[in-house]
Amino acid sequence: MRLGGRAAYLTNVADREQLKGAIDWARQRRLPVLMIGHGSNIIWKDSGFDGLVICNRILHYKEEPIGDGADSTVLIKIGAGENWDKVVERTVSRGLTGIEALSLIPGTAGATPVQNVGAYGQEIRDTLVDIEVHDSRTGEFVVIKQGDCGFGYRTSRFKTIDRGRFYITMITLKLQRGKPVPPFYPALQSYLVDHGIVNPTPHEIRNAVIATRQAKLPDPVLVPNCGSFFANPVIKETEYAKLQATYPDLPNWPVGDGKVKIPAAWLIEQAGLKGFHDTKLGIATWAKQPLVLTNRGAETSQQLLAFRDKIIHIVYVAFSVSLEQEPELLP
Ligand SMILES: Cc1cc2nc3c(=O)[nH]c(=O)nc-3n(C[C@H](O)[C@H](O)[C@H](O)COP(=O)(O)OP(=O)(O)OC[C@H]3O[C@@H](n4cnc5c(N)ncnc54)[C@H](O)[C@@H]3O)c2cc1C
Repeated sequence: MRLGGRAAYLTNVADREQLKGAIDWARQRRLPVLMIGHGSNIIWKDSGFDGLVICNRILHYKEEPIGDGADSTVLIKIGAGENWDKVVERTVSRGLTGIEALSLIPGTAGATPVQNVGAYGQEIRDTLVDIEVHDSRTGEFVVIKQGDCGFGYRTSRFKTIDRGRFYITMITLKLQRGKPVPPFYPALQSYLVDHGIVNPTPHEIRNAVIATRQAKLPDPVLVPNCGSFFANPVIKETEYAKLQATYPDLPNWPVGDGKVKIPAAWLIEQAGLKGFHDTKLGIATWAKQPLVLTNRGAETSQQLLAFRDKIIHIVYVAFSVSLEQEPELLP
């Protein structure tokens, strides 16, 4: 968002030794430590951070095939500092399926488990095997299995109960050689139909995702934004039924447990906030995707948060549904 205060100290680490060195350096000075990737999902408070920010730049990529049939499984160990989209590109070029729908998500591989990144029907938890972390409580490197990550929709233990405790150094994914399995997310399916593609390859799904994303999302290099600013609300089926009586077109995706997910973008648009630009605050919703907030001249994170609160309030008054912020507010 190009907003927020300054960090007292910042360093890059390229391997586990450098990470340990940086942690020791901060400990000797009694400074708090924060690990980040590329910073694409962070709102920095204006007050800044009186500690050490460690940018993870640990690079590594190794495939370990299991089995040798046509649909064989491949384990891939990936350094946390690898550029995520380059990883997706690489796996797709090797004919592997499992993460192709996560194309063009900005950031590093190591950040993907933090909010269980997801898009177009895939989530990182679907293919993640385990994560190597440095546990700041014990000072040890340990491996956390997928089942112990506390994954949920756009969340994990790394974002909730264990926020800030683990520094992720490596992730292991399990991908399949072969074709992606339908059904595909509706936006991808219509792209495939429009382009006469049946039985798509991982590469064709990646192209469909890139084309779809580029058509509606601003490039963060050119337009300051942090992707979807709000998560899609998950509400009880009974609450959905009440809303549906007034808004028969309100889409929903059942998520089990008597709950459904509804699109935050639809709520914001229906509340008349698509392309809404508050010139005083200097923040606007993106006209092609109102879930995305863009910095159009704001100078402080406070302005962004005031704009956020405005959107939450207007949507709540209209639908009695509370929107929740997706990017993290740090420190
Ligand atoms: C244009 C745009 C589109 C986006 N689209 C999507 C999308 O479709 N789906 C989706 O899920 N997200 C999306 N995002 C959000 C973002 O890309 C992801 O959350 C991504 O994983 C962030 O990676 P990062 O390296 O920039 O993490 P950062 O923003 O640097 O960090 C995010 C959080 O993870 C922690 N963290 C990062 N790396 C580590 C590590 N190695 N160890 C421990 N903690 C760590 C940080 O402390 C912070 O809490 C989008 C963002 C933008 C700007």
